[in-house]
Amino acid sequence: AGTGKKAEWNGVGVLKDGLRVKVLGNVGSPADALAAAQAGAEGVGLFRTEFCFLDAAEEPTVAEQTAAYEAVLAPFAGKPVVVRTLDAGADKPLAFLNPDPEPNPAMGVRGLRVAFDRPEILDRQLEAIAAAAKSSGADVSVMAPMVATAAEATWFVERAHKAGIARVGVMVEVPSAALSAREILQVVDFISIGTNDLAQYVFAADRQLGGVAALNDPWQPALLRLIALVGEAATATGKPVGVCGEAAADPLLACVLIGLGVTSLSMNHTALAGVGARLATSSMDICQLAARGALAAGDPASAKLAARAPH
Ligand code: PEP
Ligand code: MG
Repeated sequence: AGTGKKAEWNGVGVLKDGLRVKVLGNVGSPADALAAAQAGAEGVGLFRTEFCFLDAAEEPTVAEQTAAYEAVLAPFAGKPVVVRTLDAGADKPLAFLNPDPEPNPAMGVRGLRVAFDRPEILDRQLEAIAAAAKSSGADVSVMAPMVATAAEATWFVERAHKAGIARVGVMVEVPSAALSAREILQVVDFISIGTNDLAQYVFAADRQLGGVAALNDPWQPALLRLIALVGEAATATGKPVGVCGEAAADPLLACVLIGLGVTSLSMNHTALAGVGARLATSSMDICQLAARGALAAGDPASAKLAARAPH
């Protein structure tokens, strides 16, 4: 159902039964931010800050970072924006953070791991984010990429609080973090699931390699079962859990994710209207039935069929 229909959406994420689901944008530049705001994003669920500095040979100063973040936050004054700290390494190396080649960059010192050796770089970024939050008036929270354990989450939360940022979360994109969701949710304010990397690490399948794309299908039941664990932890603790990977941009899968306990969805601006329109036609009961069907399926195609059945 829904295929070929022009998506109509008023810019407020709400299920058929009136339950609210935040529908947010993924952004990496001022142009992205503007496009997301114009497409009706209620805020930003993932601001990929590393995209601002892909060409930088040296670490940008705090003033340069503040200006770069302000330009992205500008269209979202008064709205929620989740700023992700630098996720450098693997597919997105930054010259000033990842100078040495590694044999397995996806499993190397990437994301938050870079900060354990050089915490002062993270502290300067947090200082710039706090400054940009103040001047832009956006309702800013921060989150860390590539977190593997609750101890790492605790380490990050303490540094963010020291920088004056009150609302702090982490991404769940490493299977160990999904399996530790309850412990992690005890120390953070929210979790955001990065399904792109989570799929890559669950299936041991490089996300950049066409030859293993079938394993990286976000409809894979094993991936959905891991997301379900995080959703259950969220429901048990009453804390929000978002999805900001590509999975959130598929309208039918978005419904499944909501049924698994996810409370917000963040995506490229081109997907906002389609997902918003689909959510408006699905009640929580339908989402939960779709989720149950997809979880029990044996492969991605059957999961999709099972999710479509209750609609
Ligand atoms: C993800 O891994 O799903 C994610 C949203 O982060 P990125 O695509 O930037 O690695
Ligand atoms: Mg990722």
